[in-house]
Amino acid sequence: MTLGRDAIRRWLTVPDASALFAEARAVRAKTKGDGVCLRGLVELSSVCDRDCLYCGMRHANPDVRRYAMRDEEIVACARLARDLRFGTVVLQAGECPALWSRARVAALVRRIKAETGQRVTLSLGERSEADTAVWREAGADRYLLRFETSDRALFAQIHPGAPRDGEHPRLAQLRRMKAQGYEIGGGMMLGLPGQTLESVVEDLLTLRALGLDMVGLGPYLAHPKTPLGKRPPSGEVPVSADFTCRCYALARLLLPDANIPATTALSTLDPARGRRMGFEAGANVFMPNLTPAAYREGYQIYPGKICVVAPEADAITALRADLAALGLRHAPDR
Ligand code: SAH
Repeated sequence: MTLGRDAIRRWLTVPDASALFAEARAVRAKTKGDGVCLRGLVELSSVCDRDCLYCGMRHANPDVRRYAMRDEEIVACARLARDLRFGTVVLQAGECPALWSRARVAALVRRIKAETGQRVTLSLGERSEADTAVWREAGADRYLLRFETSDRALFAQIHPGAPRDGEHPRLAQLRRMKAQGYEIGGGMMLGLPGQTLESVVEDLLTLRALGLDMVGLGPYLAHPKTPLGKRPPSGEVPVSADFTCRCYALARLLLPDANIPATTALSTLDPARGRRMGFEAGANVFMPNLTPAAYREGYQIYPGKICVVAPEADAITALRADLAALGLRHAPDR
């Protein structure tokens, strides 16, 4: 089915989207069977040079507990991912090239691959073509960089220092990384102040235009210690689990083979039902947080961020049981 602008707009606004969710499940069953991938998320550091207007970890927020993990601790998380049969670790951090230098990240990627055999997904924000080339060479498999919004003007508004015109910097980086041979992941936040419904339609079409391998999208959750957190909500784009799941389902139809996680932000918005709703809308990935407990509180990109799954093996067992109740099962990366 070719999904055009009008059909997308209609699915985002019809009162009941259950037929859309059913179709997304059918497409997922065809492309992924009943397998759900688990990726171990490691939040390397809460140190950030940037001042993104929506993010609680922004440089200007004095209340953040700033931490940075040591290489040894990071490799230990990758070992845990291996022991839990995840197959992949996602290394994410605030943007700080001084801390996460080209050479340090390259050495870390090599070490994780050699010592644990895990695939490595990087999520270190906006970096140069030379940096990402070296990391790819070192063995990095995937890169996650949300473009946040395809609305060029809104993007510039909420990212101080971003160029006001010319190419969207994050879309440009995603295209470069695809050419470098990465599997690339991108996506947006839903419900940003100033975001229009039409721009979300464009975001969804952009997922397909980029030919993404992974889609990461979730609700925008206002953080009171940020400039955007004080602005009135979008008005056009609801911050709701239902709307988020419509976007998962549309992403599944637009990119049948993509890996689509039910995100932490969705579970934070609706702790009781979010994750299940995500899977019922065509998601096929979940990213348990493997960050050492002592650091977690420092990585508050939005308030109340819940740690959906503790790293303990029994929490993972409980997650596997949840999947079984949905007719799904954990399928380790081959
Ligand atoms: N520095 C990295 C990682 C940022 S955190 C980078 O820029 O890629 C990962 C994602 O969290 C961001 O891309 C953004 O989409 C999301 N995020 C940040 N603040 C948020 C908020 N207030 N509500 C919901 N999601 C948020």
